[in-house]
Amino acid sequence: QQPDAYVVIGNPVGHSKSPYIHAAFAAQTSQQLQYGTLEAPLDEFAATVRKLMDSGARGANVTVPFKLEAFALADSMTARARAAGAVNTLLFQDGRILADNTDGIGLVTDIVQNAACSLRGKRVLMLGAGGAARGALLPLAEQAPAALVIANRTLARAQDLLAVLRSDAPDCVAAASTFADLQGPFDVIINATSASLHGELPPLPAGLMHAETLAYDMMYGAQETPFCRYAREQGAQTRDGLGMLVEQAAEAFYLWRQVRPQTTAVLAELRTMLQKG
Ligand code: NDP
Repeated sequence: QQPDAYVVIGNPVGHSKSPYIHAAFAAQTSQQLQYGTLEAPLDEFAATVRKLMDSGARGANVTVPFKLEAFALADSMTARARAAGAVNTLLFQDGRILADNTDGIGLVTDIVQNAACSLRGKRVLMLGAGGAARGALLPLAEQAPAALVIANRTLARAQDLLAVLRSDAPDCVAAASTFADLQGPFDVIINATSASLHGELPPLPAGLMHAETLAYDMMYGAQETPFCRYAREQGAQTRDGLGMLVEQAAEAFYLWRQVRPQTTAVLAELRTMLQKG
C-alpha cells in the first residue's frame, strides 16, 4: 500500500522547509507518509488542487501566494481560519476540502510553550496589519492578554483588523494605533511587518520595551533581524519566527494524522541547518 501523500503548494516553493519538518515528524511518530513540494502556476491554483485530490493525496500545506485562494476554495473551515481570512492547511476528505490556518496557533505555541512566556494578563503589541498579523490575532486574543494593540504604518489597515478582531473576540481589550502614537511599555511585541525582509526596522518610538519584554520577529534567517537587534540593544528578550514555522507544521500534522509530534529536536536541527546556510 502506498503511503499517504501530502505536499506544500506555493510559487516559488523550492526553498520550503516543510518537507524536512514533516519527514522528521513522520519518522519520529512512525507515520507512513510522503511529503513533497508542488509549484502551482500562478493562475492555476484551483486546478492544481483538484488534480492533487484526484491523485489520491490526503492533504496540503499552502504558502505564498495562495493562502487567500485556498480560503476561497475551501468547503468548510475552522473558526481561526475564517478569522484569519486565509488558510495554510488543507485536508481532503471524501472529495471535500477542509481548511485550517495554523500560523497563529503556531506563533502562540512558540511563545507560550517554547519561550515559556504566558500571554495571560500581558500587554501585547502587534506590529503590522498584513496577512501574518491577521492570522495571529484571534489565537492571541484567546490567551486573554490585558491589552492587544495593533500598530501599522497605514492606520486604516490596523483599524480593519481591529474590527475583525472585535467581532471574533468581543471581550478582548484591543486597539489600533499608528507607530508614533504608541504608549509603551509592552510585555510582548510581535513584529509581523515585512520590514525585516527588506533589512529595515519599523519606525518605533522610544520606551516600548522593558527588560522582561519578549520581542518576537515572525521573520527568521541565518542573521539576526534588525528588529531583534534593536530589541536586544534595548535590553529585551528576543526570538525569531523559526519556532512558529515548526509549530504551525506540528499543528497541521496533528490535523492530518491525529498524532502530536515533539518539536524541540526538530527546531534545534532546523536552527543548525539555517546557520550552516
Ligand atoms: P504583508 O505583505 O501581508 O504585510 C506587510 C506588513 O508590513 C504591512 O502591515 C505593511 O504595512 C508592513 N510594512 C512593510 N514594510 C514596512 C516598513 N518598512 N515599516 C513598517 N511597516 C512595514 O506580509 P505578511 O503579513 O504576509 O508577512 C509579514 C512577515 O511575516 C514576513 O516577514 C513573513 O516572512 C513573516 N511570516 C512568518 C511566518 C512564520 O512561520 N514564521 C508565517 C507567515 C509570515 P502597510 O500596511 O502600511 O503597507
